[in-house]
Amino acid sequence: MQFSISTKKKIELIDITGQVEYAVERSGAKTGACTVYAPHATAAIVINEFESNLQKDFEKVFEAILPRADYMHDHIDNNASAHLLSGLFGCSRTIPVEEGKLALGTWQRIIFCEFDGPRSLRNILVTIVKSQ
Ligand code: ZN
Repeated sequence: MQFSISTKKKIELIDITGQVEYAVERSGAKTGACTVYAPHATAAIVINEFESNLQKDFEKVFEAILPRADYMHDHIDNNASAHLLSGLFGCSRTIPVEEGKLALGTWQRIIFCEFDGPRSLRNILVTIVKSQ
């Protein structure tokens, strides 16, 4: 299953838990594993609380975590930091499915992280492997 989102800012966090939950429901899986994957070199998927101040904190960290440097990719594409953040945080996560639902903790959400927005078409692939 696949869905698309658009982003509005250079760095932006978007809660995609609802779309992933819908994919799990439609799959009919009772027990298994759900992989959420973004086929993009300048975005990431993380699992964490989606609270507005924490979103700002994440944005602050994404803007500050990389050392200032003359990144070579900036000479051809001017978005080295977006690639590096994507590589560091990773473009996929796997969540267990238990009793037909994502086994997320109370405060955990699945969050798409844009590092090179705005973009009109960001794809997210949801693959569910059933063990029951
Ligand atoms: Zn690039």
